[in-house]
Amino acid sequence: MSFVEQFKHLNWHDISMSIYAKTAQDVEVALSKPKRNLEDFKALISPAAEPYLEQMAQLSYSATRNRFGNTMSLYIPLYLSNLCANACTYCGFSMENRIKRRTLNKQEVEDEVKAIKQMKFDSVLLVTGEHETKVGMNYFREMVPLIKQQFNYLAMEVQPLNQQDYAELKTLGLDAVMVYQETYNPSTYARHHLRGNKMDFDYRLDTPDRLARAGIDKIGIGALIGLDEWRTDCFYVAAHLEYLERTYWQTRYSISFPRLRPCEGESSNNLLQPKSVMTDKQLVQLICAYRLLNPEVELSLSTRESPMFRDNVLPLGITSMSAASKTQPGGYASDEVELEQFEISDERSAASVESMIRAKGFDPVWRDWHSAYSG
Ligand code: SF4
Repeated sequence: MSFVEQFKHLNWHDISMSIYAKTAQDVEVALSKPKRNLEDFKALISPAAEPYLEQMAQLSYSATRNRFGNTMSLYIPLYLSNLCANACTYCGFSMENRIKRRTLNKQEVEDEVKAIKQMKFDSVLLVTGEHETKVGMNYFREMVPLIKQQFNYLAMEVQPLNQQDYAELKTLGLDAVMVYQETYNPSTYARHHLRGNKMDFDYRLDTPDRLARAGIDKIGIGALIGLDEWRTDCFYVAAHLEYLERTYWQTRYSISFPRLRPCEGESSNNLLQPKSVMTDKQLVQLICAYRLLNPEVELSLSTRESPMFRDNVLPLGITSMSAASKTQPGGYASDEVELEQFEISDERSAASVESMIRAKGFDPVWRDWHSAYSG
């Protein structure tokens, strides 16, 4: 059974009610177990777990250090294009925003690669808007091998593709794909995805299945926190992870938890306000809950979060961080400021993030954690 089929048996309202019905006793039972299930996860993200945050943080810290040691993987996003054929209410690249569009050519990509290499990164996340015709397989066929020559680990965050295309990109050097469902509530999803292929909720939901079948090494999943009630959306992410690990055990997985941030563009006077606001403390609770559910999963934190938050939360469960990110294509080789996909909160240089990581007693790893330690 694919996740799309399994998903039909999950009910948003019932899940939400059962999370909010969890008690202190449920939390204590979950904390006392050596191995936890999805019911325990519900307890750990529930309001009833908020008084147990310190204990959760200690357990999460130990579980993370046991599995990942004192290491922190660093990666950098490389924005190749801001063309997009979708209209998402929360994004500066939406086709409805009249902005200057740009897709990097070979020379411009090489310039970006050079600038990134100077910062020491050996792991890169290629990002584009979602434009099938202008930034599709032909473009990826040209750029992926060119970029892979220069980096140990290559991940992508682009439009969902078919299984055959993923298999081909793997032969060209692609290691990982991030594909976030944004929200697992179909009616909320429909309200925020107004035009283009991204309107197809099921095709997107089925993407991790296609990736795993294509043999991609690592798959990143997540929800955009704030589009709908965060606890319920994050439960779905955990259920999706559980399904994927059970079905495709050879694949590695990572989870991201981006919080909705203001975007620029025409809608800037009317910025999308999160439907469900998640506080810093609640994000820490969520990170610890993911770790207590799953000691193996990689947890990734982006520069959307503030330097202070990133520094404080680093030891508790996070295994990889982006740094020095620029979200406009061509942003590393040139200082020209164009429209960004979303506002960066941590604007520190790679060197200063590296110093912070060392000061906390961690070893920065400039490539994917697994590839660094498996040779
Ligand atoms: S979130 Fe992605 S698909 Fe949606 S408008 Fe932005 S770049 Fe396009």
